[in-house]
Amino acid sequence: MREQLLHLLFPYVCLVCQKLLLPDEEYCCSSCKETFDPFRTPSEAENVLRQTIVSHFGEHFPFERGWCRYQFHKKSALQQVLHSMKYEGLFNLGTSFGRQLGEWMLSEGDIGDIECIVPVPLHRLKRTERSYNQSEKIAEGLAQSLKRPVHSGLLVRKRYTVSQTGLSVEGRKTNSEGAFLAAKDVRGCHVLLVDDVVTTGATMAAAAQALREGGAEKVSLAAVAVAAKE
Ligand SMILES: [Zn+2]
Repeated sequence: MREQLLHLLFPYVCLVCQKLLLPDEEYCCSSCKETFDPFRTPSEAENVLRQTIVSHFGEHFPFERGWCRYQFHKKSALQQVLHSMKYEGLFNLGTSFGRQLGEWMLSEGDIGDIECIVPVPLHRLKRTERSYNQSEKIAEGLAQSLKRPVHSGLLVRKRYTVSQTGLSVEGRKTNSEGAFLAAKDVRGCHVLLVDDVVTTGATMAAAAQALREGGAEKVSLAAVAVAAKE
C-alpha cells in the first residue's frame, strides 16, 4: 500500500523497487521488468493456456484461439504491478499492458476474423466501488493495437460473485457458473474475451459460455498473464 501511495505521489519512481525511472521507463524500471516471465512466442503461450484450462475442465478447450503475454508467479514483481493496476487506481497500466499484448499478438501473423473485443465485466456494484474495470482498460489497449472495437456492454455479470482468490478449483467453477449473461445479440460473431489473469480459466469459461448461449459463433481469449504451475 505504501508503495502504491508513493507511486501516486511520485509517478517517476518504480512501482516495485522505488528507484527513479528513466525517461523511457513506465511504471516499472527495466531491472524489475526483467523479472517478469514472458512467453517466447504466442504459440507457446497458447499451448500453456490450453493445458491450464484443459487440466481443469477436461479435454475440451472452449476457445477458438488464446493469447497471453506472461506466466504469473506468486509474490513476483508482475503480481505487484498487476495488483496496482487492479486495485490502486493505476488504470493506465491496463491500457499499456493491453497495447503491448496486442502488438505481440500481431507479431506472429494476423488474428483472423475476430470482430470485437469484450472485457470480462465486473458486477456493477464492484465497478462502482473501484470506479473502473481493469479488463476494460486492457481491452482498450488491445483495441488500439488490433484495430477492433471494444463492446463492453455485450456481456453483463448477473450475480455478485465472491473473489476467486483462495477458492479451490471446484469452488471457482461453482462461483463463476451462470454468473454472466450476453446482454445483446452476438449471433454469428467471433468475440475476443479479455481478462487480466487466467488462474484456472473458470471465469473465462463461464463468460465464454454466456457468449455462446447468446449466439456467438467463436470465442477467443486474451489475458495479460496465466498462472504458472507452482
Ligand atoms: Zn524497479
